[in-house]
Amino acid sequence: MEKKRSWAEPYKIKMVEPVFMTTEKHRIEALEEAGYNTFLLKSEDVYIDLLTDSGTSAMSDRQWAGLMMGDEAYAGSRNFYHLEETIRKYYSYKYVVPTHQGRGAEHIISKILIKEGDYIPGNMYFTTTKLHQELAGGKFVDIVIDEAHDPECLHKFKGDTDLKKLEALIDKVGAGKIPYVSIATTVNMAGGQPISLGNLKALRKLTNKHGIKIIHDMTRVAENAFMIQQNEDEYKDKCIAEIVYEICSLTDGATMSSKKDAMVNIGGFLAVNDPEIFDKARNMVVIYEGLHTYGGMAGRDMEALAIGIKESVQDDHIRARVGQVFYLGEKLLAMGIPIVKPIGTHGIFLNAKKFLPHIRQDEFPAQTLAAEIYIDSGVRSMERGIVSAGRNKETGEHNYPSLELVRLTIPRRVYTQAHMDVIAESVQRVYERRDSIRGLKMVYEPEYLRFFQARFKKL
Ligand SMILES: *Cc1c(COP(=O)(O)O)cnc(C)c1O
Repeated sequence: MEKKRSWAEPYKIKMVEPVFMTTEKHRIEALEEAGYNTFLLKSEDVYIDLLTDSGTSAMSDRQWAGLMMGDEAYAGSRNFYHLEETIRKYYSYKYVVPTHQGRGAEHIISKILIKEGDYIPGNMYFTTTKLHQELAGGKFVDIVIDEAHDPECLHKFKGDTDLKKLEALIDKVGAGKIPYVSIATTVNMAGGQPISLGNLKALRKLTNKHGIKIIHDMTRVAENAFMIQQNEDEYKDKCIAEIVYEICSLTDGATMSSKKDAMVNIGGFLAVNDPEIFDKARNMVVIYEGLHTYGGMAGRDMEALAIGIKESVQDDHIRARVGQVFYLGEKLLAMGIPIVKPIGTHGIFLNAKKFLPHIRQDEFPAQTLAAEIYIDSGVRSMERGIVSAGRNKETGEHNYPSLELVRLTIPRRVYTQAHMDVIAESVQRVYERRDSIRGLKMVYEPEYLRFFQARFKKL
């Protein structure tokens, strides 16, 4: 067998940002003050921040140089045209409306395409995407394959849609009530799991037959493309840029949070091919975001984004990015820690139900685990379980998701292999004392997206 080669980074470090090392006593106090919610911790109290990969990546020297090229004209900034040209070239979409971030684009497309009483099938939900679909009058229907809900299942493309589930929905409500299928690359809530091109092509065929659009949540499309290159035979000799382009070409439009794949700190866009939808989006963006040639973004930020998009589809970049995540995941697996398998592309998801089997789901095992890891080492992670799943709109009960996870999300180009070792050791330490850990009770609950601001107390 060929010896496994290292995934090392295709860059060197030019500038560093000091971070704070804290004592356990300090962390216990900080966490109590934050109501046991890692979202409410101050960043200064965090050593290694794995809360999210959103807006936390390191920009390249090229991107920083791009900031200096900002054309801050109110209308017609040259950076907008550069961004538009880049999106056409790498993502295939014809028309672009910049937004302040991904949810700005979700808001606009949901309002344009969804009517009261419509159904929006998707390959598992994402928090903001689903909320905007519901606020526009739609109902989200999960059509991801069953395997996605099983954290032990080794299916290589757990983001795939189950076409039978979609056909059943079409039979039940009629294609006229389904404006589009919402497809995410990769599926965040399933653990960063990719969709295959084979599945997407079959979905395209079926949706074409019924006149249903596909709207692409393309937040991590390059990472998804990498998994296709690695695991879908037909694509093993294609480069990432080609695969990304093909994925996008199979869809009718996209919402993008450029804070992920595209390695900028803020920004996003809506991109479509239909001139009529574009016209509506351009009308709407001036109400909610800003003029159509900047939306929610400064000129300089559009420039950094255009450069980031190009960097994000380089094979060397994406191999190192996903390679680092796999390095951490494989280390945790070797330690016997229960994580979602197979390893996803943007982070490691700890299976809190298995990690803390003695804590009932309504005592928030994942929230508890995130808190304990922070106390151990100052590593900040986040809950993706019952708190994130919110309540049932009709009954007011908690939704009980089958996945109760803690996400260790790795920012791009930010941390080193030594940081990955520290993270793994901390998780192992908490695992060793898991039997003594007790759950939490919720003492404050916001109405929307409660995971951001809910507060807890120790049981
Ligand atoms: C982050 C994210 C969004 C929302 O984007 P924001 O930029 O945070 O508004 C939508 N979908 C997925 C899959 C995401 O990860």
